[in-house]
Amino acid sequence: MIECGCGKKAVYFRRNEGRYYCKKCLMDGVEKKFYRTVGRNKLIERGDKIAVGVSGGKDSTVLLYLLKMMQKKKGGFELVAISVDEGIMGYRDKSIKAIGKICKKYGVPHHIYTYKNELGFSLDELMCKKKIKSCTYCGVFRRYILNKKARELGCNKLAVGHNLDDEAQSVLINFVRGDMLRFQRLGAFPKILDDKRFASRIKPLRNIPKREIAAYAIIKRFKIEEGHCPYSFDNMRRDIQTMVNKLEQNYPGTKQQIVNFYDRLHPMISKKSGKVIGTCEKCGEPSSLRVCKYCELLEKIKN
Ligand SMILES: [Zn+2]
Ligand SMILES: [Zn+2]
Repeated sequence: MIECGCGKKAVYFRRNEGRYYCKKCLMDGVEKKFYRTVGRNKLIERGDKIAVGVSGGKDSTVLLYLLKMMQKKKGGFELVAISVDEGIMGYRDKSIKAIGKICKKYGVPHHIYTYKNELGFSLDELMCKKKIKSCTYCGVFRRYILNKKARELGCNKLAVGHNLDDEAQSVLINFVRGDMLRFQRLGAFPKILDDKRFASRIKPLRNIPKREIAAYAIIKRFKIEEGHCPYSFDNMRRDIQTMVNKLEQNYPGTKQQIVNFYDRLHPMISKKSGKVIGTCEKCGEPSSLRVCKYCELLEKIKN
């Protein structure tokens, strides 16, 4: 039997440390990383009202649970869960039902917003009629709906389930694409958009590898419905993911290294522009352009 440092049976191997972990020590380790990320970046303050974006996948389920536990232990902030239902039969309906049960179990109010109500069509209906690269659209639509609804619910922060893998990928994707604006907006607590109309995005899981979150969810026996979106099309992210996983395998610790390097770079590149963000003349939401990206894409679909 392979043992953890504490003498119990090991269930997990952290390759970058060369150390085996038992269930209990792995869970402690995951929680420690969560609290450290929250603490160091001052993600949560007294009086915050936090909307947690939940999809029903492992990341957002673990995020909701850890935030709830923190609230129980320390108090001082409010929590609500919000889901965007794109309307994908056999995929999103199942995952939202699963997370709904978890919200109920832990006593977190759960709000669901559907594409059908917000946009006038479900993603299934849209994809029936048009061949589009839906990921681009969904990225914009989801962000817009989450921000707007979080604000309407009186939340000043929006917690998202991005893990270490997601963050390392995003650093490289924006680097490869040369997208300076998006590159500047990464990090556990970007705070780039200093505007009351935005719920500040916080990423309490961004230093925890995907594998450890998955292990945590299994040990905790969370009921998780995780499928794959049938319309998924993000080639660049998929390629970068493959590349980063390969690097991690050959050079353990690569993902954390990429994210740490980004954090060292961040203060140098994130000078606030001082530019005031305008208002979309169609929908009245904040936008740096005359018409926001959401309205632009919606218009494109309707024509
Ligand atoms: Zn142990
Ligand atoms: Zn707009």
